[in-house]
Amino acid sequence: MFGCTDDQIGREVLNTALYVYAQPYIDVGLGGQIAEDGEGQPYLRYHYGRVSTIFPESGECLFCQEVIKDVWIRHQYALREDPHMAATEARERYLVGGGEQAPGVGPFTSAVADYGVATLLTD
Ligand SMILES: [Zn+2]
Repeated sequence: MFGCTDDQIGREVLNTALYVYAQPYIDVGLGGQIAEDGEGQPYLRYHYGRVSTIFPESGECLFCQEVIKDVWIRHQYALREDPHMAATEARERYLVGGGEQAPGVGPFTSAVADYGVATLLTD
């Protein structure tokens, strides 16, 4: 299986499916952090790409690799129920964004996907 969703819920489904169907799973993603400068303007503080390979009989799942977390999945379910939930309300409910809301910049996305395909071809 090859996963490249930006959705924590989708990653959880694929993370479970690899054990149900006993198939290797390669998951790619981008992450990063948006910060604010002294004038409150957002900027991209850091950015990274990730390729995770999971074999059903060995290795760590996406939870163990801390690619997905229960709190991020609950956050996405809450946003599905109330897409207009304010950031402050989300914080009050102790729901934090998963970092996967970081901007998917096209060239970086393509580069990380290339590494994922290279991983598929060499495993
Ligand atoms: Zn695990």
